[in-house]
Amino acid sequence: MKRIQLLDKEFVLSIPASDIKRAIWDMAMKINRDLHDKNPLMVCILNGSFMFSADLMKLIEFPCEISFVKLSSYHGMESTGEVKQLIGLNENVEGRTVVLLEDIVDTGVTIDNLVRQLKTQNPADVKVATLLFKPEACTRDIKLDYVGLEIPNDFIVGYGLDYDGYGRNLPDIYTVVK
Ligand code: 5GP
Ligand code: MG
Repeated sequence: MKRIQLLDKEFVLSIPASDIKRAIWDMAMKINRDLHDKNPLMVCILNGSFMFSADLMKLIEFPCEISFVKLSSYHGMESTGEVKQLIGLNENVEGRTVVLLEDIVDTGVTIDNLVRQLKTQNPADVKVATLLFKPEACTRDIKLDYVGLEIPNDFIVGYGLDYDGYGRNLPDIYTVVK
């Protein structure tokens, strides 16, 4: 199996680009079928989702908009740890179907918070489309409407996902060698 080095860590090829492509194609066909008459607002969650969002959007067959948001991390007043605030969403989502495009759902904390934040703006519906999902890591009871691939609970890089800023450009996905 192909191995690469990023900074101090070694990674081994785990999901080839062809598998990613097929998973995104399947997901796009479902979204085309389910949402063609909903005028959904697609929302790319930067940075990790840039590559997934670009490839998915090319397969959407109805006219639709995409917006790009970031999550700003800050430490809240409570000792509960990090809270991530959604920034950059300029569209009015009231009464609209919103589809969050996420690279990976790990513990589920990020997407759970995001869905809750969005729902305060009274959208008609919030759907989650994630390329990758780690079921063993997930601690939240969240509804994932579209899942590309379920993966083991290991750290991965590539296809938009980084290790300390590196690896986002890789067309395949690699798993860290422990
Ligand atoms: P969660 O809040 O679900 O635990 O984590 C979501 C975020 O953590 C993802 O959007 C991603 O930025 C990051 N993340 C989770 N697992 C991985 C991983 O295996 N590799 C990389 N590069 N980022 C991950
Ligand atoms: Mg992400």
